[in-house]
Amino acid sequence: MERFQLNEHDKELITTALAVLEKNFDDGVYNHTVGCALLCTDGSVYSGVNCDGIHGACAEYVTVGMAISDGKREFDTIVAAHDKAKNSVISPCGNCRQMLYEYCPDIKVIVNDENGELIKVRARDLLPFAWQPVIC
Ligand SMILES: [Zn+2]
Repeated sequence: MERFQLNEHDKELITTALAVLEKNFDDGVYNHTVGCALLCTDGSVYSGVNCDGIHGACAEYVTVGMAISDGKREFDTIVAAHDKAKNSVISPCGNCRQMLYEYCPDIKVIVNDENGELIKVRARDLLPFAWQPVIC
């Protein structure tokens, strides 16, 4: 698995993901508010929060959906943030890993490594043997 060091843009991305949390309301039912920031290859940045609910949408889904709705298709780096998480960063869930794999397998995802240090890895490396559609 290829690992990338964080740069100054990545730290700004984490700050952006944390900042969007302030725009969310938390009704106290779920207590799991996550912010996400996405850097597109053209330099534009999108951020979003998760939507609570029994079938809620993760912040990564919301944010990627916003970027796609705005016509973006090429993504560089993504991060999900929670203010109480280690280094304020949480790993994408399995569902989001699959979504990232399908939309942009080479996107870099900021995560905590096994030593608690922030690194970037490609989405494809977060989901080995990923599901793929059978094309007939
Ligand atoms: Zn998710």
